[in-house]
This record gives sequence, C-alpha cells and structure tokens, in this order.
Amino acid sequence: MVALRHRNLKLFTIALAFFAITITSFLLNYTQNSVLMTWNPFVRFMASMRSPCVSKTEVSPWFDERFNLTASPLLTKQSNMLSESTYKWWMRLQGEKNPLDINLATEELFKVIPGETNLVERSPYHCRTCAVVGNSGNLKESDYGPDIDSHNFVFRMNHAPTARFERDVGNKTTHHFVYPESVPELPENVSMILIPFKTLDLQWVVSALTSGTINFTYAPVPRRIKVTKEKILVYHPEFMKYVYDRWLMHHGRYPSTGLLSVIFALHICDKVDLYGFGADSKGNWHHYWENNPSAGAFRQTGVHDGDFEADIIGNLTSIKKINIYRGR
Ligand code: C5P
Repeated sequence: MVALRHRNLKLFTIALAFFAITITSFLLNYTQNSVLMTWNPFVRFMASMRSPCVSKTEVSPWFDERFNLTASPLLTKQSNMLSESTYKWWMRLQGEKNPLDINLATEELFKVIPGETNLVERSPYHCRTCAVVGNSGNLKESDYGPDIDSHNFVFRMNHAPTARFERDVGNKTTHHFVYPESVPELPENVSMILIPFKTLDLQWVVSALTSGTINFTYAPVPRRIKVTKEKILVYHPEFMKYVYDRWLMHHGRYPSTGLLSVIFALHICDKVDLYGFGADSKGNWHHYWENNPSAGAFRQTGVHDGDFEADIIGNLTSIKKINIYRGR
C-alpha cells in the first residue's frame, strides 16, 4: 500500500514537472528564447501545429543553389574573419587610400561595441515576422503603415524618415540599415546595422561613440550618433560577398542596401514581407519623401543592377519565400 502511494506520488511529481516545463517553454517562446524548449517533444509538436510560416527548405532548386544557411550575416567577435578574396573585393568597393589594418580596426571596434548578438538564433517555435521597408515612392498613399508596424521586426534603410509618413510607412523601426554617409538621426532604442564599405566605416563607429573626430569620409558624416553601443550591429563583409556572388552573380558593382536587407531578412526571419521596393505604378523610381517623381533616385546610382535585383525579388516572390506589397 505504502509502495503504491510512493509510486503515485512519483508519477504525480513527474507529471507536474513536465507540465511546469511545458508552460515555461511556452512562455519562453514569446521571448524567443529556445534553450529550454528544444528537447521537449510535446512543445515541439504543438509549435509545429501552430507555426505556419517557418522557413521551408527544398522549395526550389533555384533557391537552394543560392541560399547558404551557414553564412553569417553579422560581424561579431566570434565571426570576424575575412577571406583573402573577400578582403580584396571589399577593399576595391570604395578604393580606400591608406586603410588601417583591418584586424586592428575590428579589434578597436569590439572594444567599443559588444560584438555579440542572438539575432540570428531563430526559434523553431515562434514565427518571427519581418517587414523590410525599401524607400520607393510606391509607398505614397499606400496606407501600409499599420500593416508594416504589425511585424515583429521592421527593417528600414538609409535616409528613410517615418515622421509625417506614418500612415504609409508606419512608425515602428526595430533595425535600420545604414552606411556612415546615409545615417539619419536614429533614436537610441533602434538597432543600427552598419553596412561597412571600407575600413574607415568601422573606425567611424568607434569615433561616433567616443571622440567624435570623424566627420567626413568622401562626404560629410555625423560626428555623433544617439544609438546606444549595445544596439549597434555590423553587416559582415563576407555576407556582402555572398550576396554578390551567389545571389547577384556579379551583376552591378555591389548589392544595393535593399537587396542586402532582403537576403539578411531571409536568414533571420520566418516570414519576410517587402514594402517600398520597385517603381511606382507610373514607372517612377523616386523616394517616398521626394515630391518630384522623376527624381529616379535608385535607378541613377550607376553601381547597382536594378533589373537583376528586381528579378531576384520576383523569383523569391514566385516561390513564396517572400511577399511583396507593391503600393501605388
Ligand atoms: O535609395 P536607397 O538606396 O536609400 O533606397 C533603399 C532601397 O530601397 C534601395 O536599395 C532599393 O532596393 C529600394 N528602392 C526601390 N525603388 C526605389 C527606391 C528604393 O526599390 N524607387
């Protein structure tokens, strides 16, 4: 009798522990922390039942030939090596004279910013939705604002303003892709993702957070930034090369900020929705904050192959890897 009672108690305790861990796991799901969840088969089963947008592999040979899951999107303390060929390619992008030794530059950088992130760790139990917002004039009068803001992550880029354009572009920004010459005033709670095109760009981050000595590269750059150092991430030059080699297949001189953001999103999001990409319905290529539709900003850079980039986005859309909202 006593032995039976002991057994029941044991079973009850095990069931209780399992229940507690399951509940904890679900709660962790909402903070996107997957450490405790990974082993729990019940949670895994439940998650698979309710996570319709987890990335699928083997959807198209075209995609599989290009997508490399092991490519590391961010330059971190752990992932800071550049191959010889990437370094040569990267150094040619803006023809820097007398660059600082790259290893020294990254060493100095990671003395100032943490160089650590869990952004790339996706939970298999939580559908991370991302809006990638390009700067096309087709956002004007689109009313996409609330839709864009409903995503877990909202990526914006370069000069993109939100004030006065909230109805069409939203006002939430979690991450903003920039290079020093394109940085707008960013609030301190936004993550700045620096896309470095030269060694000086890495030095600029250090300067902007400390001495404020750098205010010019080939164009004026802000002496200071408000973004806190914990929020600064750096796009990996090796990943830029991956986008250029595998996705762009060497079309144009280098990938646009828009394409770099889209491929980045493919690597860290489960659902990728694009807004503000491409011409407007009248064929204009201006920015949404410009009044002159014939400004043609994106098409006039001369360094990007806009047509080839549009084809990549078109293909990703047709195999349902991304959705594109074409605006007006
Ligand atoms: O002009 P900017 O480079 O700041 O725009 C950011 C991105 O938005 C571009 O790299 C491009 O991918 C996208 N864009 C677009 N059509 C436009 C303007 C920008 O597709 N008319």
